[in-house]
Amino acid sequence: NWRESSSSSAASSHSNNKKGLPQSVLQQQHDICVVGAGLSGAVIAERYATQLNQKVLIVEKRGHIGGNCYDFLDPQANVRISKYGAHLFHTKHERVWEYVQQFSEWTPYEHKVIGLVNNTHVPIPVNIDTVNTLFGLQLTNSQQMDQWLAKEQVKYDHEPSNAEEVALSRVGPRLYDLIFKPYTKKQWDRDPKELGPEVTARIPVRNDFDGRYFSDPYQALPKRGYTAIFERMFHHPNIQVYTNVDYFDVRSQLDCGRTYYTGPIDTYFADLGWEKLQYRSLTFERQFYKNKDFFQPAFVVNHPYESADFTRIVEYKHLPDQPKSPHTVIFVERSSDVGEPYYPIPNQRNKDLFRKYQDMANKEPKVTFVGRLANYKYFNMDDAILNALELFDQDTQQQQKQRQE
Ligand code: FAD
Ligand code: UDP
Repeated sequence: NWRESSSSSAASSHSNNKKGLPQSVLQQQHDICVVGAGLSGAVIAERYATQLNQKVLIVEKRGHIGGNCYDFLDPQANVRISKYGAHLFHTKHERVWEYVQQFSEWTPYEHKVIGLVNNTHVPIPVNIDTVNTLFGLQLTNSQQMDQWLAKEQVKYDHEPSNAEEVALSRVGPRLYDLIFKPYTKKQWDRDPKELGPEVTARIPVRNDFDGRYFSDPYQALPKRGYTAIFERMFHHPNIQVYTNVDYFDVRSQLDCGRTYYTGPIDTYFADLGWEKLQYRSLTFERQFYKNKDFFQPAFVVNHPYESADFTRIVEYKHLPDQPKSPHTVIFVERSSDVGEPYYPIPNQRNKDLFRKYQDMANKEPKVTFVGRLANYKYFNMDDAILNALELFDQDTQQQQKQRQE
């Protein structure tokens, strides 16, 4: 699929089958080298190329651009799917929203998730409809919902300090047991008590009928998908992209003015022989349904209950701007300890270890660590973009100051 998409892309993008870079590239002096053709690397490359007219080389170890945002047309189902899981764009940052307008038309889309709980479909996050359905109530307004929640909620004399306490303080034990506890255990293979409070704080609890998963003012999907955005960002004479190249195989041969590294921070410092940071991964079981309109009632259906060995099912055909198709395809999502590093595991061990790696990163000359893996932090797409834009500002201002001195 990458080859297909690369043919419509910049002449300066190359899909390499061999490890390594052509001699001509190794002989060049690159103003900027970027490790990773995901969102963070793409923003850095685009900024240096267009704002400062600098020559940028990107190396990407996977066989395609786009990092975890990569999407493509499933050839059998004729449905655009995301290789690494559903990606919904949402942001409250004006700067990010304005920035992404340059690279795509955007179709407004407010993501809604349904959960199968006690054999019934209910909205997730929890709202008035969720509790009315699950507990046979007839709440009609926010005041009633607040009162109901107040009776359920567990009160602590301290700030909730882990994922369990956050959920219990927001929804109480009954909803925790139905929606949060079994899902979180499956997702992380850990007791929610062992996970940082930010895990369950990610999703809101609503006191109205709002069925949206996110609350941000800007929620939309790129009309032609995410990969098309990357093609557009890289379509510049100052940018060269090489896929199937692992940075560590070519690093010693490269001549880079400055390097932006978006891979895992612990891999960068592997020579130190320190312990590794832990990540949670996912597997996606593809199921194709010939001549079937839809498999399920929504794009994402969560299955929090313990007896399912999966967490959610994603059916991309529900999204806007899909081509017409008589078929559908679904992806059953399971969490796993092995595979691509997707989710940093936010516990004390990893937080402490990351700080040690970060101290090393701060001392690394002419290298900036950027993105979700290098920061060992759960960045949404908008966080990744903002982080890269801010690092670009910071580094270029510093470079300007040094030149003036
Ligand atoms: P990545 O996309 O991981 O890119 C890093 C790139 O570096 C990768 O392509 C990797 O192959 C490459 N690389 C690593 N090491 C090397 C090396 N040694 N040499 C060369 N290349 C290397 N965000 C949202 O806003 N909404 C969502 O709905 C959403 N859903 C998500 C669902 C899942 C399952 C996951 C995992 C993430 C989701 N995200 C979502 C987050 C989003 O994917 C990230 O914010 C974004 O991809 C971060 O971009 P990045 O460039 O920092 O990292
Ligand atoms: N979560 C849950 N039940 C759900 C949905 C989410 O317990 O039905 C918890 C779970 O711990 C999960 C976290 O909330 O890891 C964040 O959910 P989100 O949907 O944001 O996770 P992602 O889409 O990033 O996998």
